[in-house]
Amino acid sequence: MSTKPGKVLAISDYLLCMEFLLTDLDNCQQRVYGSSRGLLHEMERRIRLKTLNPHITCKICKGYLIDATTVIECLHTFCKSCLVKHLEDNNTCPTCEIVIHQSHPLQYISYDRTMQDIVYKLVPNLQQNEVRRERDFYKRRGMPYPKTIPNNCIEKEAGSQSSSSKLEDNDYHRSDEQVNILLEAQTTALKQMRRKFIRCSAQVTVTHLKKFIAKKVFNNMDKYREVDILCNEEILGKDHTLKFVCVTRWRFKDPPLKLYYRPKLDLT
Ligand SMILES: [Zn+2]
Ligand SMILES: [Zn+2]
Repeated sequence: MSTKPGKVLAISDYLLCMEFLLTDLDNCQQRVYGSSRGLLHEMERRIRLKTLNPHITCKICKGYLIDATTVIECLHTFCKSCLVKHLEDNNTCPTCEIVIHQSHPLQYISYDRTMQDIVYKLVPNLQQNEVRRERDFYKRRGMPYPKTIPNNCIEKEAGSQSSSSKLEDNDYHRSDEQVNILLEAQTTALKQMRRKFIRCSAQVTVTHLKKFIAKKVFNNMDKYREVDILCNEEILGKDHTLKFVCVTRWRFKDPPLKLYYRPKLDLT
């Protein structure tokens, strides 16, 4: 694997790491054991964690990525705190030196949940240690811990029984069946999404989508009632799930599910 900077390579690094994530790596210590799916004969290979290190470490602090945050333009990834600190005095990517944004570079970086999951999956105990370190930090200062604690980091302690219902939320519905949608404005009355392709849980309802659109288009989630969402020219009911829409409106069509939004027609 080359380490030359560039968008294509960053993506291929990503895909490589994704392949490892597909396998259960919980028992690995110094070695990563990956198996390719979809091959007739199962292929096995072992790769030293050292080989992957350049792809899962932060170029600024040289440590494993913590709160992995990616520059949207070039897809280079750093720890959130390292990158934010760097951007206090600079507006360029520390790796490729592309200008992220002249005046507001912080708006063009994004938390990279997938990358962080990969890092935590590959590096034994990193997540537990990081959570413990952060909790100590806040405890020493007498402040409440501001993050939700990930499933696998819950330590058995008094009161932890009550957190079992919260645990399911920590997954953010990523274990649900997922659906790919294309969300476009039907008229010029509402602006287009910057990112039209969305992948989300099939349990998302039309109301959830309306709130998402209102947030993106009006920058005000409360205006979600002013939006209609259509599929095949038909207005969708607010409580329909995307699963229901797929099954009833998009059954024999190829993904993505194409949805359009427009201002609500006032019929009163
Ligand atoms: Zn860092
Ligand atoms: Zn870069």
